[in-house]
Amino acid sequence: MNTTKVWNFADLHLHTTYSDGGATVIEVLEHAMRNTNLRAVAVTDHDEIEGAFEAQRLAPHFGIDVIVGEEISTAHGHLLGLFLQKRIPPKLSAFETIVRIHEQGGLAIAPHPFDASVPSLGCRLGAVNLCALPFDGIEVFNASIFWPWRAANRTAQNLAMSMGMAQIGGSDAHSLCAVGSGRTAFRGSRASDVFDAIRTRTVWADGVYLSRRKHARQVVDMMRSMGVGAFARWVVHVALPAGA
Ligand SMILES: [Zn+2]
Ligand SMILES: [Zn+2]
Repeated sequence: MNTTKVWNFADLHLHTTYSDGGATVIEVLEHAMRNTNLRAVAVTDHDEIEGAFEAQRLAPHFGIDVIVGEEISTAHGHLLGLFLQKRIPPKLSAFETIVRIHEQGGLAIAPHPFDASVPSLGCRLGAVNLCALPFDGIEVFNASIFWPWRAANRTAQNLAMSMGMAQIGGSDAHSLCAVGSGRTAFRGSRASDVFDAIRTRTVWADGVYLSRRKHARQVVDMMRSMGVGAFARWVVHVALPAGA
């Protein structure tokens, strides 16, 4: 690692219209370039990777590095794959999913592991079994967690510290207003620097929680993008079962 490199920020958890996000790939990249100090973003749509490839192709026009990612709906909850080469199917076990991520040279991150309002690995598996999985990092700051569940970030951070895991921050943005609200600090400026920083655990997380106004804005943007019917199905099939 080159310790002379300066610290920069990456948002490693973003959704676009390729899944349930309210903004297109181009809108996300343009917003990140104009309105944030991010040097890299990971596009991590639910069970979909084409938007991330599109973002990677367009990235040179926006002066920002793109990491190809996917938020995979495993049988045990959401799991982030970063630096992927190809899509990983949903509904595999968490362990099998991590193996497939590593087989293609990617990194496996446990997103919002203790947020009970969405399907989360730590809620389904418990902290002990979560720790037994070969993750490369834990998302310890997720800016989109609703206020009743925000202690989940602290629980995740305590676990990451006790395990010596890389601590990741991400916005989990489903709307432009959230992009960059959660960040991972790393030395350097390129996606490859983010990879090295996670592998060497020289990262830290910070960010600002979404205000209630921004949460409302996200819901409106998601409904506009998905359509009211699809949004209602999303609530029934994704949001509501999470607490089960
Ligand atoms: Zn998630
Ligand atoms: Zn997400």
